[in-house]
This record gives sequence, C-alpha cells and structure tokens, in this order.
Amino acid sequence: MTAKIIDGKALSLKLRVAFRARVSKLIDQGIRPGLAVILLGDNAASRVYVRNKINACDDCGLKSFPHLLSPDTTQDQLLELIEGLNEDEEVHGILVQLPLPPHIDMRKILEAIAVDKDVDGFHLYNVGSLVVGNSIFPPCTPYGVQLLLDTTGIDVAGKNVVVVGASNIVGKPMALMLLQKEATVTVCHAKTRDLAQHTILADILIVAAGVPGLITGQLVKRDAIVIDVGINKLPDGSIVGDVDFASVKERASWLTPVPGGVGPMTVTMLIENTLRSAERRLGIGRGIGSEGWDAASL
Ligand code: NAD
Repeated sequence: MTAKIIDGKALSLKLRVAFRARVSKLIDQGIRPGLAVILLGDNAASRVYVRNKINACDDCGLKSFPHLLSPDTTQDQLLELIEGLNEDEEVHGILVQLPLPPHIDMRKILEAIAVDKDVDGFHLYNVGSLVVGNSIFPPCTPYGVQLLLDTTGIDVAGKNVVVVGASNIVGKPMALMLLQKEATVTVCHAKTRDLAQHTILADILIVAAGVPGLITGQLVKRDAIVIDVGINKLPDGSIVGDVDFASVKERASWLTPVPGGVGPMTVTMLIENTLRSAERRLGIGRGIGSEGWDAASL
C-alpha cells in the first residue's frame, strides 16, 4: 500500500480562509490584530522565515510590525523595544526570531515578552502550562502537527507515538501535547541507542532531528502515520525532510511531504495564536490549548 499524503499546504489554505473571517469580525469590533516580528542580524534563513511571517499577516488581514535590527543591537536596546511592544495596544503578538547572536541572552529575551502576547509559546509560563495541559499559546510547529494528525481522523489516545528529536521548540512540546491526549509517548534523541527498536513500534512517528534521510522504510511499522518535521537544505539547493520519502511511503498509511507538509502549518499556527490573543482581549474565541478544533470542519 502507498501512503496517503497529509497535505499541509491545503490545510493551511483552508485555515486561512477561516482566519480572514475572524479578522473581519475583530475589525468590526474595533480591533485589527497585530503581530510584531523582531529580527536581529542578517542570518539568511531567518530573513526568509521573517518574510514568510509578514506575508502571512498580509494574507490574512493582520497588521505586522517588523523590527529589523542591526546585529550589534545590545541586549538592553532589545529589552527596551520588547517593553514598548508589551504596552502597545495595537500589538497582540510578539515574536523574536531565533537564533539570536551570542551576545544576547535568549532566555532573558523570551522571559521579557508579556505572557499574553507570547504567540510563539516560548515563555517559561507557556512552556509550564503545556505540562499541565492548559496552554494559551501552544508552540506553532507541534500545534500544526497536531492539526495535521487530526485530519487523518485517527484518535491518538492509546497509540504508541515515537517522537525523534527532543528540542525545546519541537520534540519536547510535541511529546507533552500528545501525552495530554493520552498517547503513549516515547522521545528519542541523538543519544538514543538503537533508534530502530523504538521507531518500529510507533503507530505514529514524528521526526524532528534535522538529519536528512534518517528514517527509512525499514524503521517504520507497517501502516504507521509518519510526520516529517525536518527541513534540510542539500548541497544542490534542494529541500528535504528527515524521512526517506520513497521507501517510507511504501510502509506508512499516512505521510507528510517536505516541502508542503509541516512547514506551511507552522506559519499558519502563528497567525492562529495571534488571532487568539486579539480575541482574548475581547473575551471571545475558543478555549485554551488546542481544544475546540473540529477536525471534520477543516
Ligand atoms: P535541534 O537541532 O534543536 O534538535 C534536534 C534534535 O534531534 C535533538 O534532540 C537531537 O538530539 C536529535 N537528533 C539529532 N540527530 C539525531 C539522530 N541521528 N537520531 C535521533 N535523534 C537525533 O532541531 P529542531 O530545531 O528541533 O529542528 C529539527 C528539524 O526540524 C530541523 O530540520 C529543522 O529545520 C526542522 N524544523 C522544521 C520546522 C517546520 O516548520 N517544519 C520548524 C522547526 C524546525
């Protein structure tokens, strides 16, 4: 059997149609949702990510506030900017593009963002709320993965989920979100011995390691759902994931492509979190966490 493709681009487009309607409602009530995006320095990949985020704001009708700062901006200057944005009524979400240059203490910067504008979900308060299952702003990449899984119609409760990669922005929050949904979760990482003995048991395999071709068909249980978070640029300029698409598609029941799988969802969930922040200001909108999504309506 050949795997069915989970199309993140298509889901993303559908969500954005719904977002535009939510933005119109907010504008009717006197609020234009706004996202501040801060970029320090001239990392080429970061520039592309920031441009995509600003384009997504334009596409959905949000106002964006780009702050493209020189690489020698000091930590105090950055903190001052964030303080101002925390107070700014027009700003509902604040995002600091990572990584930051070495002279900046990343943790200090992330903790300076007001919790109710932390649309990336990286403030310690939001990280902690994920542990107890009532997050306001789930981190965008795992949040997007969760919606992609929902569209398969498969209930994750009781399933063996293996997450390969244990970073703070993808692997760990992903594991927590699925544990909250009563999956049996295993987290593997670079020091895991015999990766295959874990992955082969996975009903759902989520891979975020940053290693092209790490997961081949023989590491995958027949009919597993496989989500490839990896984005890797090869020397020839092509973009591939962490999963060997050709061999895994012959084993899996569902599979995300790269590009066109998780990537588009990450930016779209940033817009979702920003809208939620604006709606919270009016006391409207969905509840906490990702509860309340109706997968059938997507
Ligand atoms: P990271 O480097 O912070 O973490 C990588 C994790 O993978 C670590 O826990 C490491 O121990 C583990 N790992 C590395 N090699 C491994 C191996 N051989 N076997 C098992 N585990 C291994 O990376 P990250 O920021 O979490 O990103 C991971 C990948 O996901 C990258 O390719 C990144 O570009 C991509 N990414 C994609 C999106 C998206 O929107 N699709 C968002 C964030 C990250």
